[in-house]
Amino acid sequence: MAGVVGELRASFKAGRTRPAEWRAAQLRGLIRMIEEREEDISDALHADLAKPRMESYLHEISLAKTNCTFALKGLKNWMKPDKVPAGVATFPSTAQIVSEPLGCVLVISAWNYPFLLSIDPVIGAIAAGNAVVLKPSEIAPATSALFAKLLPVYVDNSCIKVVEGGVPETTELLDQKWDKIFYTGNGNIGRIVMAAAAKHLTPVALELGGKCPAIVDSDVDLHVAVKRLAVGKWGCNNGQTCIAPDYVVTTKSFAPELVDSLKRVLERFYGQDPLQSEDLSRIVNSNHFYRLTNLIDDKKVSQKIVHGGQRDEEQLKIAPTVLVDVPLDTALMTGEIFGPFLPIVTVDKIEDSIEFVNARSKPLAAYLFTKNKKLQAEFVSNVPAGGLLVNDVVLHVANPHLPFGGVGESGTGSYHGKFSFECFSHKKAVLIRGFGGEAAARYPPYTPEKQSIL
Ligand code: NAD
Repeated sequence: MAGVVGELRASFKAGRTRPAEWRAAQLRGLIRMIEEREEDISDALHADLAKPRMESYLHEISLAKTNCTFALKGLKNWMKPDKVPAGVATFPSTAQIVSEPLGCVLVISAWNYPFLLSIDPVIGAIAAGNAVVLKPSEIAPATSALFAKLLPVYVDNSCIKVVEGGVPETTELLDQKWDKIFYTGNGNIGRIVMAAAAKHLTPVALELGGKCPAIVDSDVDLHVAVKRLAVGKWGCNNGQTCIAPDYVVTTKSFAPELVDSLKRVLERFYGQDPLQSEDLSRIVNSNHFYRLTNLIDDKKVSQKIVHGGQRDEEQLKIAPTVLVDVPLDTALMTGEIFGPFLPIVTVDKIEDSIEFVNARSKPLAAYLFTKNKKLQAEFVSNVPAGGLLVNDVVLHVANPHLPFGGVGESGTGSYHGKFSFECFSHKKAVLIRGFGGEAAARYPPYTPEKQSIL
């Protein structure tokens, strides 16, 4: 690992990654890779997660290409120094903020969107002019192997490298000195990453998870709301998504109508036997399969299932499952679910839902479905979260003009679009003066005459 970092550092020090042309060439290489190897990427995602091809295309391949193209188009502008007012105290002078590459950066990625979550931060690191090591998740081995095979073919291998592996390899990587570590995954490992970074005073971006709430008011177009809720939960990796709605909050009186509508939509999406549906991803591995089935095998939880609950151990598939009023002290309701269960919490009036959400850790995303403008405004100003979305779920991730990242326990730092460039840049303050504009009062001796200005 020391050799890998040494080689990257030498390339960075030689200034290889700094020119706009180098950055653009790498981004073009990534776009070419996505275009030419789309089939291979889709196959790898299918091998890792049985991800439906449509989902792979919409949520990973096309988004990665769009983000890469966006960076390529924005690059020259982003790299320009920002001129700022010079200020009276430094008169005469010019002042600017120069975006400087940080150096050698490490990207540690997660398994659930193993293509997008690896390439997206790498796009930012390259655009900002850094040398980068990508460590994909060992839990999505086909996609990890594909990166190791393809990246050296399409980008400059002296500055952009893939290191495959699990805990021992990542631990060794974390022992090295980096100029930034960008980590996506759960908060427990996030703490390990942050502690390792602290040894070298290395800054970190931590893209973590949590329980993302979806508040559903009765004043909605129910059919559209439920379709969007369902596709954001089960149509995104069968719930294995950091910004999937983790639980719903609605009123006691509206819950039965919501549940009926969810059942109808689920049957339309995945048929009578969802375990046989090709349109539903499987659970990534048996560890996660048993982690999930244990959650609903708790008696206090299983008796609250109103839809679904079926599983197929061999295929690692679990059916979309809806539950109502699960006791709040169960593991299902305290930890991030990251799977196909959607518990519905009921409150007396919809206004109570905001209090319920705010009594918990700040989520990565929070959602609200309502036509009520007053409730929308209250939600936007009173709910702290990484991002908010009204009348849909998940989709905010696809707007490159919006920063994506968590707050509090859901993460620190953000990226996407220009925010990715900034995530991997240092904002260097630059002040340039001439030799005029001397003020005698600045220099000792501080005679009574000079002090008369005080
Ligand atoms: P994971 O198991 O793939 O782990 C993430 C990375 O950490 C991997 O590269 C893995 O090799 C590394 N790792 C694991 N153990 C380690 C250790 N002891 N020391 C050093 N590195 C180690 O992914 P995961 O954590 O299961 O991912 C799911 C979590 O990630 C969920 O909480 C989800 O919400 C969150 N997530 C967040 C985002 C986001 O953008 N904010 C995106 C996807 C997932």
